[in-house]
Amino acid sequence: KINSPLEAYKYLPQTNCGECGQPTCMAFASTLIDRSGKTSDCPPLVKEKKFAKKLAELDRLLAPEIRQVTIGVGDRAANIGGDDVLYRHKLTFFNKTKMFFDVADNMDEAALVERVKKIADYKKFYVGRNLLLDGVAIRAASNDPAKFAAAVKKVVENTTLPVILCSFNPAVLKAGLEAAKDKNPLLYAANKDNWKEVGELALEYKVPVVVSAFNDLDGLKTLAKTFAEAGIKDIVLDPGTYPSGKGLKDTFTNFLKIRRAGIMGDTEIAYPIMAMPLTAWMAGIADPVSASYWETVLASVFTIRYGDIMLLHSMEPYATMPEVHLAETIYTDPRSPVAVDSKMYKVGTPDENSPVLFTTNFALTYYTVESDLASNGINCWLLAVNTDGIGVEAAAAGGQLSADKVKDSFDKSGFDIHKDVTHNSVVIPGLAARLQGDLEDKLGVKVFVGPMDSGRLPGWMEKNWPP
Ligand code: SF4
Repeated sequence: KINSPLEAYKYLPQTNCGECGQPTCMAFASTLIDRSGKTSDCPPLVKEKKFAKKLAELDRLLAPEIRQVTIGVGDRAANIGGDDVLYRHKLTFFNKTKMFFDVADNMDEAALVERVKKIADYKKFYVGRNLLLDGVAIRAASNDPAKFAAAVKKVVENTTLPVILCSFNPAVLKAGLEAAKDKNPLLYAANKDNWKEVGELALEYKVPVVVSAFNDLDGLKTLAKTFAEAGIKDIVLDPGTYPSGKGLKDTFTNFLKIRRAGIMGDTEIAYPIMAMPLTAWMAGIADPVSASYWETVLASVFTIRYGDIMLLHSMEPYATMPEVHLAETIYTDPRSPVAVDSKMYKVGTPDENSPVLFTTNFALTYYTVESDLASNGINCWLLAVNTDGIGVEAAAAGGQLSADKVKDSFDKSGFDIHKDVTHNSVVIPGLAARLQGDLEDKLGVKVFVGPMDSGRLPGWMEKNWPP
């Protein structure tokens, strides 16, 4: 395995031709290591026969410890797995946990289509992006091939999201595969009883497949090994998800053991793991709110340790919101904070009398401040100062937020504080109060220190604005 650009560089053509969009082969090698680029982005490496061996070797050396598996096709295809580390701070986690919500083939057709659309249309705006759900798991509750095929057909007609075909009956799975032939669905699942038939289906239709052995890691490994030896590469592991009690502890331990073995080089079990928080609904909890709550707890546990894909049921906002937020947070690259563009933003419809404020370009900070202002109807100018995506307090302490940096961001924004507004003043975050004097010197304006928390800006404005 290679971990540095220098090692990757040895396998590249070293002509610095620029066809990959990078100025040099070394720069391209860096993109391979941080996974923002792939070997297929270097045309000479792919096209010229003399590099074929090097390309194959480089692909092998760059492959992540945990196999990456793709479910579905097109823009919404879901990549799962692909991790190289046990702890996020050692590098980053790749491929956010994918959340698939269930439908069943015994649902009334209108209800089925409505739920599929609800899954596909789910959208939650969070720090500048929309958090989405990832796919539909179709359960063969009827165990009837014709009914299952009809449900699968309905689902794929109504969404481009990837699907999981759920049955232990090979005849039912085959009927579902026929209805979703070109959609690269995930087959759930092969177990000790049906593995031969389900393995043949995975090979025949060239689709990824889940191997399942409930709380039996040896059995799970044997199944995965058997499938790999048969030529099936895209395997997902289901060690079973106990919904509660001592069984849940066993499930948690199983997830840790599988991932640790995979990262430590046991290739026979180095595959993505499936968790099933929807088993909360089978735990004998009568009240649906409590079942949703417990399902969300399970989803949270296995987002952190080490569920790559999940089957879920509750679509209540109190269940989905923590689930999608947690996955987004855990899978944010710790090496590069999420940042917004450093520029002057309009909040509402500001004019020449509107206040001018700044915050940092750390996305979470920016959108918090922006939302506190916009939701209270405060029309203003809001500059996102470039602090490399660091929040106000840490940036002010670490030097990324200084009077020079603020002036630089004002200059680059094209906003002239002396001409574009009449009041000649700026409101700065309370956490950056120490910059007040320096800023007055550098910007040549009156600097007001705002509140420590942007949630108090509306009250502060009422008392202090206009100056
Ligand atoms: Fe180097 Fe390939 Fe990029 Fe050309 S396209 S600069 S050979 S990495």
